[in-house]
Amino acid sequence: MTVESTNILVISTIEELQKKLNRNERKGATVGFVPTMGYLHEGHLSLVEHAKEQNDIVVMSIFVNPAQFGPGEDFESYPRDTERDLRLASEAGVDILFIPTVDEMYPTNSGIRILPGKLACELCGASRPGHFDGVLKVVLKLFNIVDPDRSYFGVKDAQQLAIIETFVHDFNLRTAIVRVPIVREDDGLAKSSRNVNLTTVERSEAPVIYKALQIGADMFGNGAHSEEIEQQVSEWIVSNSSGKIDYVKMLAYPGLGPITVNTNEVILACAVQFSSTRLIDNIIMSTKGGSHVSNDDEQ
Ligand code: AMP
Repeated sequence: MTVESTNILVISTIEELQKKLNRNERKGATVGFVPTMGYLHEGHLSLVEHAKEQNDIVVMSIFVNPAQFGPGEDFESYPRDTERDLRLASEAGVDILFIPTVDEMYPTNSGIRILPGKLACELCGASRPGHFDGVLKVVLKLFNIVDPDRSYFGVKDAQQLAIIETFVHDFNLRTAIVRVPIVREDDGLAKSSRNVNLTTVERSEAPVIYKALQIGADMFGNGAHSEEIEQQVSEWIVSNSSGKIDYVKMLAYPGLGPITVNTNEVILACAVQFSSTRLIDNIIMSTKGGSHVSNDDEQ
């Protein structure tokens, strides 16, 4: 199916997208790629903005990838609104919107998997076994289909970003990976498609997550140890919200190993489970001179 509206081409088959983006057809035009699961918000649109600045053609995909959801997770309740996404993507200047079905992406059930290795042992990888296998599966397929010059990923999903950067490097994939800072609501809550599934009370509590991370970042600037910071951040979140801590963790970034004297950047990351919605957030900081590297300095 192909739908042409005024300024956006919507494609749902791999064959058609590959034909459109064939390197011979491109005639040297560069392609920036923004993979998403839809229910678009300003975080996604910030990726598009970066992609537009740096490329001739911007391709966005919208695919709620079942391979990255575990049993009992929110695949079914993940928010979806294709009409709204189409309008927002079009207004943001996306040239091609790829919206495949699950059958189109996964026509066979071969069971072949890509294992993300030790980078997936911490943080979300520890709480969501198999999640990053599913992420790498869809990302590799999408990179092969779109063949982008540059691909745009948010620092919001910092572990995903670290794994994809390493994957691209280790397997000599052709695309460059561009990091895009976290976009937040006015009250500090990181924008997420899942925020809409919070109850009214939970939505009013959720900004506590970023507040707690900021407190942790200040402690880091003042020389506190990571265990002390992790504990304070957890306590702050638990005492000021109904959210349950999945993890609060400080690690070297992007290697996600322990912090050592050679570490240049650290991540303070957390995942908090509300009644039906799990939220993640992070702050990345420089270890040099106690100064913080804000990862949302381009809001
Ligand atoms: P998703 O649709 O949640 O899978 O996200 C698609 C892409 O948008 C990923 O690269 C995310 O890291 C990025 N993204 C999601 N939320 C934000 C945000 N608040 N700020 C910046 N990027 C984001």
